Amino acid sequence: MTDNTNSKTPRDGSRVSAWQTTGVPEVPAVSSIAGHYDVIVAGAGLSGMTTALLLQQQGKKCLVLEAASPGFGTTGGTTAHLNNFFDATYPEVESDFGEEAAALLARSGNEAMDQIKTLSARYGIDCDFEHKDAFLFSQDEQETKELDQMLAASQRAGVIVEEAAGNGTVIPFERAIRYENQAQFHPLKYLAGLVRAYQELGGELANGKLVTGTEVKDEKVLVSCGEETYGCSHFVYATHLPPGINQFSFKCAPYRSYVIGVTLTDGNYPEALIYDMKEPYHYLRTHEIDGQKYLIAGGEDHKTGHGDPEQSLATLRDYVAEHFRIGQIAFSWSSQYYVSVDGLPYIGAMPGSGDRIFTGTGFNGNGMIFGTLTGMIVSDLILGKQNPYAALFDPGRVKPVASFTEFVKEQADVAYHFIADRFRAEDLPELADLGVNEGKVVSYDGKKIAIYKDETGKVTALSPTCTHAGCIVDFNPLEKTWDCPCHGGRYDLQGRVITGPPQKALKQIGLDS
Ligand SMILES: Cc1cc2nc3c(=O)[nH]c(=O)nc-3n(C[C@H](O)[C@H](O)[C@H](O)COP(=O)(O)OP(=O)(O)OC[C@H]3O[C@@H](n4cnc5c(N)ncnc54)[C@H](O)[C@@H]3O)c2cc1C
Repeated sequence: MTDNTNSKTPRDGSRVSAWQTTGVPEVPAVSSIAGHYDVIVAGAGLSGMTTALLLQQQGKKCLVLEAASPGFGTTGGTTAHLNNFFDATYPEVESDFGEEAAALLARSGNEAMDQIKTLSARYGIDCDFEHKDAFLFSQDEQETKELDQMLAASQRAGVIVEEAAGNGTVIPFERAIRYENQAQFHPLKYLAGLVRAYQELGGELANGKLVTGTEVKDEKVLVSCGEETYGCSHFVYATHLPPGINQFSFKCAPYRSYVIGVTLTDGNYPEALIYDMKEPYHYLRTHEIDGQKYLIAGGEDHKTGHGDPEQSLATLRDYVAEHFRIGQIAFSWSSQYYVSVDGLPYIGAMPGSGDRIFTGTGFNGNGMIFGTLTGMIVSDLILGKQNPYAALFDPGRVKPVASFTEFVKEQADVAYHFIADRFRAEDLPELADLGVNEGKVVSYDGKKIAIYKDETGKVTALSPTCTHAGCIVDFNPLEKTWDCPCHGGRYDLQGRVITGPPQKALKQIGLDS
């Protein structure tokens, strides 16, 4: 397998996604972050930049604080299908929230897609936006039954969809439905355009600023970035989970999904967006990058820290190879998304913040749409305007969900462990067995240690206790990171925070040779 190393935009993993060959423009260093801002946004992914641009456009003085650089998060590792049907299916939404809510959800998807088109047109963002049909297909009796329910509920919600004779690709199927007027785009070209437009309107953006906390005081929000503090009237977390332990830590679960970008020897690239109904499902589409077409195929999702990343990628490769004639595997990567407890995202004011602090999270695999809606809803709320979708996605909604107890239990698998401070190499037999570029959590004298051996044989030892809520991290051999199975905090090989809610690095452990 060849991996494209021509990456212009850094990302939170060691694998290079198909989009990273396009650079998000260098963000000029902000000379000084001074004075009071109307709005500060944490996170320069699609959600944060859409929010900041829509507010800056309305004359607000905005500052975006980004822990790394724009596109570093999931926006750089997405697959950028744009749909008005979602991972929370219309039958599920109808049954949990009612028919009216399902229709509202459908309209919100259409409006978000229109918003992407509007911003692209207004600011001349050339992001390869194309309308496409989307095919969803069943492969056995049970799936066909579910597909029929999906068709009926989607139509009741007002979505344009019908039964189709084909499924838009070569994969065998039993029944297929076709959603009209879906779309795709290049996520980093779009993000680059948002950043450019925002800065041209006078918006400020600072890289390398990890927001570590917020406090509402005297009608103001004080935003902490390590030792520094900034002030604003309203603050937005566009960072998936807000840092620290709060209700979202228990209402959203982190998942990883896997993607490969391949060339096909027979040129049989699907024209449409394609989805099967497996659990987890596969998603496919085609994108031309620098004159070369690629089939972009994703799937094999699992809860972060609970699966085998290398196996997931291998299974995805086998799935694609079973149905397509692969020429070259040009890209392979994984990325992270968050699932909410009741299936719909949380977008709006954080409960208890007095309408000063806002968030958009729990997007599942639909964050291009829900991230755009975050911009639309949060900017309306900050500007004091009504938004038709605010109630549906309200983070403070109280929704009794049957699976809630199990979900909370699963999320609360927080354990406290004794961690070694130092250890001697000769006392740890696992060190000899540890392969190059391999990492694992081992026990030493009843205590746990995370060890990693680099290609020169040098071993790094860390405390495996996530600094967020005390769970034990797991080694991700694909992205060369330490991932927390509870809330999705991720650390690099030196233990530094890459992403997620932790604010502090994993503790280094001394190794005596
Ligand atoms: C493999 C995969 C495929 C997907 N495919 C699709 C798809 O086809 N269609 C779709 O609609 N959705 C898809 N999604 C979901 C979608 O990509 C994401 O929901 C979306 O990119 C999230 O954007 P965001 O701006 O909210 O987050 P991100 O892009 O992750 O941006 C968050 C930013 O916040 C920064 N940050 C984090 N913490 C802090 C902090 N404390 N202070 C300051 N900055 C911070 C990060 O560095 C990052 O840059 C997919 C997800 C995955 C994993």
